[in-house]
Amino acid sequence: MSMPDAMPLPGVGEELKQAKEIEDAEKYSFMATVTKAPKKQIQFADDMQEFTKFPTKTGRRSLSRSISQSSTDSYSSAASYTDSSDDEVSPREKQQTNSKGSSNFCVKNIKQAEFGRREIEIAEQDMSALISLRKRAQGEKPLAGAKIVGCTHITAQTAVLIETLCALGAQCRWSACNIYSTQNEVAAALAEAGVAVFAWKGESEDDFWWCIDRCVNMDGWQANMILDDGGDLTHWVYKKYPNVFKKIRGIVEESVTGVHRLYQLSKAGKLCVPAMNVNDSVTKQKFDNLYCCRESILDGLKRTTDVMFGGKQVVVCGYGEVGKGCCAALKALGAIVYITEIDPICALQACMDGFRVVKLNEVIRQVDVVITCTGNKNVVTREHLDRMKNSCIVCHMGHSNTEIDVTSLRTPELTWERVRSQVDHVIWPDGKRVVLLAEGRLLNLSCSTVPTFVLSITATTQALALIELYNAPEGRYKQDVYLLPKKMDEYVASLHLPSFDAHLTELTDDQAKYLGLNKNGPFKPNYYRY
Ligand code: NAD
Repeated sequence: MSMPDAMPLPGVGEELKQAKEIEDAEKYSFMATVTKAPKKQIQFADDMQEFTKFPTKTGRRSLSRSISQSSTDSYSSAASYTDSSDDEVSPREKQQTNSKGSSNFCVKNIKQAEFGRREIEIAEQDMSALISLRKRAQGEKPLAGAKIVGCTHITAQTAVLIETLCALGAQCRWSACNIYSTQNEVAAALAEAGVAVFAWKGESEDDFWWCIDRCVNMDGWQANMILDDGGDLTHWVYKKYPNVFKKIRGIVEESVTGVHRLYQLSKAGKLCVPAMNVNDSVTKQKFDNLYCCRESILDGLKRTTDVMFGGKQVVVCGYGEVGKGCCAALKALGAIVYITEIDPICALQACMDGFRVVKLNEVIRQVDVVITCTGNKNVVTREHLDRMKNSCIVCHMGHSNTEIDVTSLRTPELTWERVRSQVDHVIWPDGKRVVLLAEGRLLNLSCSTVPTFVLSITATTQALALIELYNAPEGRYKQDVYLLPKKMDEYVASLHLPSFDAHLTELTDDQAKYLGLNKNGPFKPNYYRY
């Protein structure tokens, strides 16, 4: 899956090159920065309106929250291929240097760097959009002078993002947004390559905040951009180093929770820099939620249970993006799929897609698998669990772990048997067993990996959001939360098309005029639903 170096950018055609008359060229800088193309107009006014109308997400949390929530907010691969759990010495106690003599990092074991490098190289194969971004920006360095402090999962895929940011001119200091998801060997490879990374798998809560602090609090180095996933880093800077915000040009946030906090700050008039909401960009929602789950639902279920899906009866609660992805995969394998929904539009979509829409009670006795993906709470109750048949598999694909009432299963009359990692048999007094996966937590994050290609889409969006915020002329972005410009979403998608050898049709002048569109996009209004 190779990507040509110089794929034409939407918006960078000949007409555009000649379009000196574009009046408001300053409104759109990031693609011009990356491609040396003339600057191009974009309707930021619309985007701002979209922001103001944007509904808040559910699941409010206070800023003084615990670290564990960030882990469930984004869906990077959590698999680490090295296990150094036998090594009892905390990385904080170790003196480590990389081959260039630098100690400006804290990882589990720098000696794993070579192995981690191979992991990063494997990920690069399926993240060609980022690699192409690196090549296009060669010499240009749109992030020259950027000092990015980041807090994300530290996996091979995010390493490709971090190294792309460095290739684009940024200096990076990085910590992990989740105490369990760091791939130690990848962190070592980043440290060996000179990235100031502070992270290891199995951090304590104290370690977690220490790592974040080491990234922010550094003599002679002050961040001017934040890339966050879950909002912990942003929260720490607000709490401990509010002066740092004097230099910060913008925050890019990926997760539901982090974005929600930013909106809260904005509403309270406390947000002091512009922020980009990557979570709600089309290229995140429509790809991460739908296609990622379409692939990883089967992976998670197969790895944990070896279940065969052909002819099995499965009920999926919630027919949103995640539910649609899960159902498509299950149907393709010959499962008989039932849907529960509260929303008549989604219910009708399920009907039209050929699924039976039912109440959970109507099928709970007969189904072989129950999957929740509503983002709601108490969807599967103890009463439902009592009525399930023997060997019914129960799992969760949504965000919070409140959809299945797992707490109600921790009662004396029920026996829990751990049969495999992340697989519990809950046994009723009459011998009936329910197979509970990942204790009702996010199945794919806990029990499988997530396709690299999907992460590439999200990572590219993050990189472009950073470039845009960093290069935006003063005044374009206020102290507010912004959705990504539509044009940027389209650009992220276009960068991924060459992987499929997909050929876009170009509008003729006449067609563009007829539709009232610029030939180079954006091709849809902000309210378009895809
Ligand atoms: P969505 O809002 O598009 O879909 C949720 C659906 O559930 C909606 O259609 C809603 O009407 C329905 N619903 C709500 N309460 C219900 C109930 N009691 N019974 C039946 N249906 C109900 O959201 P989405 O994008 O599909 O995301 C769903 C969850 O998955 C969220 O928590 C999200 O954070 C999470 N998520 C998981 C992954 C992953 O990789 N596992 C990826 C992205 C998002």
